[in-house]
Amino acid sequence: MRRQYLEYMSEIPIDCSKCGNQACWSASPQDGPIFCPTKTCEDSVRAAIHLYQEDPETRNMAIAAGRTEGRSYMKWTRVEDTIDFARNMGYKKLGIATCIGLMAEDRILQKILIAKGFEVVSICCKCGSIPKEEIGLLDNEKAKPGTFEPMCNPVAQAKILEKAGTELNILLGLCVGHDALFTKYSGVPVTTLVAKDRITCHNPNAVLHGTSFYYKKLLSP
Ligand code: SF4
Repeated sequence: MRRQYLEYMSEIPIDCSKCGNQACWSASPQDGPIFCPTKTCEDSVRAAIHLYQEDPETRNMAIAAGRTEGRSYMKWTRVEDTIDFARNMGYKKLGIATCIGLMAEDRILQKILIAKGFEVVSICCKCGSIPKEEIGLLDNEKAKPGTFEPMCNPVAQAKILEKAGTELNILLGLCVGHDALFTKYSGVPVTTLVAKDRITCHNPNAVLHGTSFYYKKLLSP
């Protein structure tokens, strides 16, 4: 009976965006809607609790992140949160995987992290200087056809930082997809400081806030 119930629940679509009360944020999560994953995905929730309690790295990271959140809430910026989290974790050597378009910010971030006592290794996305054609991209698929365009190289960024022995890698404006590849190949945890969005000065949330008017076009098929 229990098994049938769980099978039935697991077939209910997961869609928190349709939730009207966010009961998970209260002490009465049972008040969430019928499709609430707290009810329909019990197995996954239990598996997560098991990891937080039994896997040392997961436990340390969850506790450190929670402590940073508690201290920082509505007081600190993300740069300060990153420093606090890294300190909580006892990391000494940090990697910065930077976009070539944010080299100025990369230098400032490096100065800040060094001032806070960290060793820092920074690596630019164009490292290796590999022409895009070398992996099969066509000239007319480049941002500026007819010119030399080196590909972004997130896999090399991850491998170089791994060789340097960084303990936490910070994403500084890698493009969509390149950030995913970096995360896939990084041997250590990754945190995003800047999410690339050339049009909004790297504030992609501006678009989500703007869909009622300026970015309404994005809601059209
Ligand atoms: S987890 Fe449940 S209560 Fe929370 S937003 Fe999703 S559906 Fe709502």
